[in-house]
Amino acid sequence: MKWKKQILDLEPYQPGRTIEAVKKEFNLEKVTKLASNENPFGCSPLVKEWLKNFDRSFALYPDGYATELRKEMAKRLNIEENQLLFGNGSDNILQVVSSTILEPGKNTVMAVPTFSQYRHNAVIAGAEVREVPLINGAHDLDGMLAAIDENTAIVWICNPNNPTGVYITEDEMIPFLKKVPDHVLVVLDEAYREYVVADDIYDAVSLVKTFKNVLVTRTFSKIYGMASFRVGYAFGHPDIIKYFNAVREPFNVNTFGQGAAVQALRDQEFIEECRKKNRQGLEQFYEFCRQEKLNYFPSQTNFILIDFGCNGDDVFHYLMTKGYIVRSGNALGFPTSVRVTVGSKEQNEGVIEAMRSFIKERAIG
Ligand SMILES: *Cc1c(COP(=O)(O)O)cnc(C)c1O
Repeated sequence: MKWKKQILDLEPYQPGRTIEAVKKEFNLEKVTKLASNENPFGCSPLVKEWLKNFDRSFALYPDGYATELRKEMAKRLNIEENQLLFGNGSDNILQVVSSTILEPGKNTVMAVPTFSQYRHNAVIAGAEVREVPLINGAHDLDGMLAAIDENTAIVWICNPNNPTGVYITEDEMIPFLKKVPDHVLVVLDEAYREYVVADDIYDAVSLVKTFKNVLVTRTFSKIYGMASFRVGYAFGHPDIIKYFNAVREPFNVNTFGQGAAVQALRDQEFIEECRKKNRQGLEQFYEFCRQEKLNYFPSQTNFILIDFGCNGDDVFHYLMTKGYIVRSGNALGFPTSVRVTVGSKEQNEGVIEAMRSFIKERAIG
């Protein structure tokens, strides 16, 4: 067959082990997954209520325009309906953006380490990938500017960055955007935006008003606690949104996702509560790191990258035997760290205790 040559050694995404698989393998009764930055508090009760009362036919295609969700979102963000793009998770949006713009002969600039899908999609599209190393967990914006040339098509910025949790302030972002040439699309992946409490972050809506080459992506998978529904969205200038809308699949957000997302948006109290509890959870981890003298990046997200100064796989495997699934930093570009999703207070206490006993046993053994 005539495969594209760049996909021949492409690896499928490694989704991490499921709770059921770990229970079985280690003969555990209770297993807690703190690996994929899902919301430990689930989603708004309004979503469950809406689903329970759902009485439309399963045989009908979803609304390809996501009319109700679009109206609700436009109102919330105070933007026009034609500034919005919806997707089957924001992963789908990243894919659509890539396939709309990238092709052989063009290049794309991103940080490293960052979210894996920017590179993955660019490789599939046959574009050259230019990776600019993080500095202290943060995007090297000057380095990224230096990597841009006349063939650069997209710059990907993950803000706050996954897997470090570090964010870019307004004072850093605006001068950067002013220097990016007009022919370059800047994608700001804000999957964790709702977790940010720092008050010096920019206002994304006013950014896209000023900079027509900026696209902001967000998701219902993280703080909204709806990863299983697969709903993501993006906003930007109507002149760029129209091309992505033409490329996307016609029915890329399912009926249940659309309806659930409308409900979730209406319950901002729930979001506020989650943001608050997440902050308290992060403090639990900071305290642990200070006591054990471990390095970590201060986080504006619902995860924390902790450096254990040894192979991250060892920490990962040990925690799994104790019933906690985290992500080894090995796969994330930080080989001596693990990335832990902030859970409920009790879950955090549990995983912290397990991490403490890892450190103790290592000191003895
Ligand atoms: C989780 C995540 C996404 C993708 O989320 P979806 O479930 O596809 O909406 C995108 N970007 C980053 C940085 C993420 O961490």
